[in-house]
Amino acid sequence: MDKIPNEILKMLRKEAEIIYKPNSSDKELEEAIEKAEILIVRSRKINKNLLSKAKRLKLVIRAGHGTDNIDTETAEKLGIEIKATGGSTEAVAELTIALILALLRKLIQANNSLKSGLWLKYQLIGRELMGKTVGIIGFGRIGRRVAELVKAFGAKVICYDPYIENYEENVEFVSLQELLKKADIITLHAPLTSETIKMIGEEEISMIKENAIIVNTARGALIDEKILAKAIRSGKLGGVALDVFSEEPATENEIVTFNADNIIVTPHIGAQTIETWERIGRKILEYIREFKKKHGM
Ligand code: NAD
Repeated sequence: MDKIPNEILKMLRKEAEIIYKPNSSDKELEEAIEKAEILIVRSRKINKNLLSKAKRLKLVIRAGHGTDNIDTETAEKLGIEIKATGGSTEAVAELTIALILALLRKLIQANNSLKSGLWLKYQLIGRELMGKTVGIIGFGRIGRRVAELVKAFGAKVICYDPYIENYEENVEFVSLQELLKKADIITLHAPLTSETIKMIGEEEISMIKENAIIVNTARGALIDEKILAKAIRSGKLGGVALDVFSEEPATENEIVTFNADNIIVTPHIGAQTIETWERIGRKILEYIREFKKKHGM
């Protein structure tokens, strides 16, 4: 699997025999998968080829939210169960708020200009979150928490989520088109599926208000990055903050390398907090114990 904190690894070693293969080649991973009954994975792609090497594998534990890096169809066919730990709702929601506020208050420019010897007090006029309309795409665990947090700042929330059956009080659900036209801040919290891939494309970007802000802490491929880059260059958007990219590591991505003060990029750190890792560790242990009990180990 991918790299995990040492403390978590120590906890897991007390519970099971662990073959730890962070940053391994496909060949090394194939050999490990062949022997394993449980596979614990973070962001690494677990494709058909890898799964076909599994001889004893019964469970894949995804450390985090979403299972889009795993070929779930093949796993199901092979009778391999998949469980995601979750655990990063708070961390991702808080990062989303940090990015929104950093864009609104021009924190990156403020920091960089002062450190380069400039006192831009009178030029750095920001905007407030209070009174703005925040459009949330995907009203699941993270989307809901973001809604609570922005409401505490006095923002108005509108949501788009075609799979919510019981609409809640105090939440206004709208179509995607209406959300794009009305929101001052658009934040994505939908999973990456065949339906959501590039759900924000040319037509959608054209509907967005002048000077609106887009924040994506969900998955890079939800937005057509080429179209987003074009919109950034046109100067239409008030700001863009991306924690996720269609290809990662995204060091060569044209939005990452675009030199503009109102673009903030972070290297997929949404779930990277001490508290998240403690939650994930506890959940992995729980799943391993359940597995051992179920299989009489
Ligand atoms: P969740 O499953 O709790 O919620 C996702 C919501 O999206 C659901 O309510 C679902 O109905 C909705 N949805 C599905 N298809 C949609 C569509 N076409 N349009 C709009 N909404 C749609 O997931 P979550 O835990 O809130 O996480 C959301 C996503 O955030 C994950 O899928 C993952 O990709 C991403 N994530 C990123 C990080 C990070 O490190 N940046 C960490 C955790 C999760």
